[in-house]
Amino acid sequence: MIRPERPENDAARVAALHAYRILDTAPETDYDDLVRIASGICGTPMGSVSLVDADRQWLKSMHGFDASPTSPREASFCAHAILQPDRVMVVPDALLDARFHDNPHVTEGGIRFYAGAPLVGEGGHAFGSLCVLDAKPHDLSDAQAEALQALSRQVSRLMELRRVSHALNLQLLDRAWYEEHLLDYQRQLEAHNAELSEQTRTDPLTGLANRRAFIAALELAIAAQRGFAVALVDIDHFKTVNDVHGHAIGDEVLVAVAESLRSASGGHGLVARHGGEEFVWLIPEVDADRARLNCEYLRESVHHASQSLPVTVSVGVAERRAGESVAAVMQRADEALYAAKRGGRDRVVVAD
Ligand code: GH3
Ligand code: MG
Ligand code: MG
Repeated sequence: MIRPERPENDAARVAALHAYRILDTAPETDYDDLVRIASGICGTPMGSVSLVDADRQWLKSMHGFDASPTSPREASFCAHAILQPDRVMVVPDALLDARFHDNPHVTEGGIRFYAGAPLVGEGGHAFGSLCVLDAKPHDLSDAQAEALQALSRQVSRLMELRRVSHALNLQLLDRAWYEEHLLDYQRQLEAHNAELSEQTRTDPLTGLANRRAFIAALELAIAAQRGFAVALVDIDHFKTVNDVHGHAIGDEVLVAVAESLRSASGGHGLVARHGGEEFVWLIPEVDADRARLNCEYLRESVHHASQSLPVTVSVGVAERRAGESVAAVMQRADEALYAAKRGGRDRVVVAD
């Protein structure tokens, strides 16, 4: 018996074969059908799809015989066939062939005739062969050899499809994995953003202090027992500004009113955006009359600052009473604001 040589690039060939993930898988009708057709065309009772692994031959399909799918590479007919990937190897009578006459497949298995068309992958490697076998000597016509080769190309194509579909599945899994992780990451970011904006003390649109900063200042003033008044400043009919001119112009109006508030306060006390189109001014160390004057000035300056759009504000003011809570003083300011709205807007009302 002459052992088959190994192709020069055998390691790469074996690695490429493994990439098909076909070794040691169950029989499949698609392969069995092609083997049956090959045997029929070549007039042989047996056939197989045989793959040549690093040290063994493994049969994906067998027709007309039943054997272990694995046998040593050194005794494999196909291991010889793959040495010439573009040719059908025909052994008309194995007993007369120096390579095979004492091969166990011949002496014990009873094989006399072999014809194998190599299975060639896209990279040019021959992985094994589609072969037909007989227990008696045989011959193969050119037409039969061509048909065997054509069918071997179909087997190669089946294997290629298998590899591509496996790669696609992996990609889909990868994608699902990434999407899941992206989603997770996004959730974390959102939670983080919510936390950050909770921590921040500035209103991003107007740059004024926000409600949170305002409440903190109010509590500080109470703790320090400092007298103060609170003015709630609400833009009149602001919804109409949005409705008529759009949200972006609405934003510009908010920024302009914030600017008027900032300059009217002259850095006295704290001006904040209380939410929506409502602002608040903590005016320290003033009595109700003084607070009213400050707020009238503010109201006027908003009125005058608005050029293209007539913008007015209503203001509710409350001077903090001794011992009064944050909530209670805010509530009185709110009631005063409500009274200003009810009274016709563009006015200041001081809580009793
Ligand atoms: P009133 O004189 O009674 O205060 O009427 P109003 O239209 O000002 O009050 P209303 O509460 O009905 O509407 C307030 C509007 O302010 C509704 C809301 O869409 C708008 N708004 C709140 N925040 C923003 C903002 O950040 N940008 C803009 N453009 N609009 C806002
Ligand atoms: Mg309003
Ligand atoms: Mg409002």
